[in-house]
Amino acid sequence: MKYISTRGQSEPRTFIEAVKEGLARDGGLLVPENLPDFSNELDRFSTLPYQDLAAEIFSPFIDDEIHIDRVKELITKSYSTFDSAEITPLVYHDRLAILELFHGPTLAFKDVALQFLGNLFEEILNKDGSCLNILGATSGDTGSAAIHGVRGKRNIRIFMIHPRGKVSPIQEKQMTTVLDPNVHNLAIEGTFDDAQRAVKEVFNDLDFRDRYQLGAVNSINWARVMAQIVYYFYSAFVYMNRFGVQNLSFSVPTGNFGDIYAGYLAKKMGLPIEKLILATNENDILYRTIKTGTYKINDVHATISPSMDIQIASNFERFVFDISGRDGDSIESKMKDLAQNGEFSLSEKEVQQAREHFLPARVDTERTLDTMKRYKASGIELDPHTAVGIAAAEDSGIEHVIALATAHPAKFGDAVKKATGVSPEYPASLEGILEKESRCQVVKNNYQSVEAVIDQTLAGQIT
Ligand SMILES: *Cc1c(COP(=O)(O)O)cnc(C)c1O
Repeated sequence: MKYISTRGQSEPRTFIEAVKEGLARDGGLLVPENLPDFSNELDRFSTLPYQDLAAEIFSPFIDDEIHIDRVKELITKSYSTFDSAEITPLVYHDRLAILELFHGPTLAFKDVALQFLGNLFEEILNKDGSCLNILGATSGDTGSAAIHGVRGKRNIRIFMIHPRGKVSPIQEKQMTTVLDPNVHNLAIEGTFDDAQRAVKEVFNDLDFRDRYQLGAVNSINWARVMAQIVYYFYSAFVYMNRFGVQNLSFSVPTGNFGDIYAGYLAKKMGLPIEKLILATNENDILYRTIKTGTYKINDVHATISPSMDIQIASNFERFVFDISGRDGDSIESKMKDLAQNGEFSLSEKEVQQAREHFLPARVDTERTLDTMKRYKASGIELDPHTAVGIAAAEDSGIEHVIALATAHPAKFGDAVKKATGVSPEYPASLEGILEKESRCQVVKNNYQSVEAVIDQTLAGQIT
């Protein structure tokens, strides 16, 4: 399979190149040249265990670049860290099904993709003998999932910057108590935006970037999207078998549009999905886009579902590329509008296509807290991100819906306490974490300080 850029100006890439590169050289995102059609395979797929289903779905995307037996081993290894035999189990609340995506090591759905990406990186680097130094900024969830994805791996080091004192104590400890020698936590004296700016500036220092072979693990990496397609198929089969229905919908708490974009791909590949409910909090840029046809950046609001507090939904570009008829020039001009005016418009035809697939919903904080409280009363504890998706599913009036549960409630204990009056219980993996030994370096709020830490750490390790 070849991967092409949404901006149309880069040479096609192989799977391995696409995974290593992340972003295309022309600034666009990489997408597969075409999608496999699984509509005639659904019966056969419907009885497979999660790992075997993943191998079937990955196979056309990876081709023979990695032997399928090896791909299966990587998948098995990646999900052996999950504490549920089903990997992503479904629980039921009347007709609503909740898909628990938080059984990985850091208790958030990002583990599903990052456990696999870590093993995939290791495989690729071992083969070609190169090294990768991952640099990233995090407001909490992505950093811990990325660190747990690559800890202890040969040929990979990770430098993860968080804003000092501005992530929750649990999130901080999930990162800084990982003591493997290839893991380096940096706490910057600033905000998340400062951390992100420093990372960007280091990447723009091309000499530095090439010298240390810097790489990224953010949600635009194709392999992350690919790994997320699997649980749509897996859970749909479980649900359709149980209720004897022929199609269903999903409700997805959305930030960067990575997770729900994987659902859209599953639909395109033949899974009978009626609607994808696109659930946002007060940061409702995607809700407004599908309602009005204009993608317009507003200020970011800090909410109780912080992993959805975004201004720019990077993966949306992949979807717009599709509905534009895969027209790189059209994307180039939309992105120019966005950079110059803070907005771009979809054509009437494009908006209609978006509405065919997505049902937009906006759920405010009050409604989110109320949803958490109601579910707690019937014995189900929800994290605030999951509650946004569930409220949106309730509002949709659609009968058959799977709502994605993207984080364990214990990760967002303050919000749970606020909604229900009771703090959530910690799962075993978090017990005692606040007292564990940790390691982290404080850096000044500029990119030179970040480069200095990387220089010192890697001195003598690079030939
Ligand atoms: C990242 C995240 C989301 C948003 O997912 P996107 O792929 O960015 O849309 C939702 N909930 C939680 C808990 C997350 O960590």
